[in-house]
Amino acid sequence: SKEMGGNRARFYNTEDTRHLNRRIDIEAALRPALYLRQFHLSYQPVYRTADGGLRGFEALIRWVHPELGTVEPSEFIPIAEHNGLIIPIGEWVLREACRMLASLNANGADSLIMGINVSPHQLKDPTFSRTVLHTLKEYGLPPEALELEITEHSSLYASDAAITALSWLRAAGVRVALDDFGTGSSSLANLLQLPVQCLKIDKSFIGKIDADSAERILVEGIIQLVHKLGLEVLAEGVEFEEQYSRLREWGCDYVQGYLLSKPMELGALDLSVIRRS
Ligand code: C2E
Ligand code: CA
Ligand code: CA
Ligand code: CA
Repeated sequence: SKEMGGNRARFYNTEDTRHLNRRIDIEAALRPALYLRQFHLSYQPVYRTADGGLRGFEALIRWVHPELGTVEPSEFIPIAEHNGLIIPIGEWVLREACRMLASLNANGADSLIMGINVSPHQLKDPTFSRTVLHTLKEYGLPPEALELEITEHSSLYASDAAITALSWLRAAGVRVALDDFGTGSSSLANLLQLPVQCLKIDKSFIGKIDADSAERILVEGIIQLVHKLGLEVLAEGVEFEEQYSRLREWGCDYVQGYLLSKPMELGALDLSVIRRS
């Protein structure tokens, strides 16, 4: 109401007010978004450096709202985590990504890996591991076909529930990758505490390895360290040829980034095109 707007103006400057209003709009629009089928997934290919072959994809959520336009996941995922909607949204992502992978398989793909981003709030949900295994079964997918990309929130730091769920899923064969490695939300402590199989080095590091930098030393070292631990390593945000050749030289297993492909709308029949590129 006008009166509320007036009150707000007394306490916040206009920049804060705009920010707050946008958040309120997004939150209100988010509630019916699933039901109104406003989400879709975009898929970014991941390649092996050894032979240039397609390893699989990372599924990334997209939301186009009729009035708000495109809302970035970095804007609405934190809101969904705050109000609990991340649980049904995350379940939809899981199903949709599995449905796509099953349909790719039906069109001749084999042993592709589908990565999905999983919020720590989902990991704390006691039904999470059951839902994942049930969904894989429903689409006839082997557990190894799915990779859960996880990060840590300080508030949930290595919670017992999360570790239990992940250990259970790992035992069943589901892959787990530690995402955004090297940032505040993904650290060495996480690497040691969580049952992960693959580490994704954050793009903020990859963006700096073509210069003579500390990042370059760090990334080369991380790749060695990860291999010594018997794990796999993926570099995200590869944008330039030089970055790709360095990463390959250093033995980084997998790469993902605009140089190779942007996230794309995918139909089952597009697979032949991706494979040839
Ligand atoms: P993320 O998991 O680190 O995903 C990688 C982000 O980097 C994606 O942004 C992708 O589009 C972008 N990217 C890919 N290649 C490049 C590159 O070469 N250079 C640069 N600068 N960026 C690149 P996007 O799609 O906007 O997603 C942002 C974040 O939102 C994701 O970061 C992830 O944390 C979260 N997110 C996306 N989809 C989901 C989802 O389905 N569930 C959950 N819980 N979070 C999601
Ligand atoms: Ca990710
Ligand atoms: Ca990432
Ligand atoms: Ca990220």
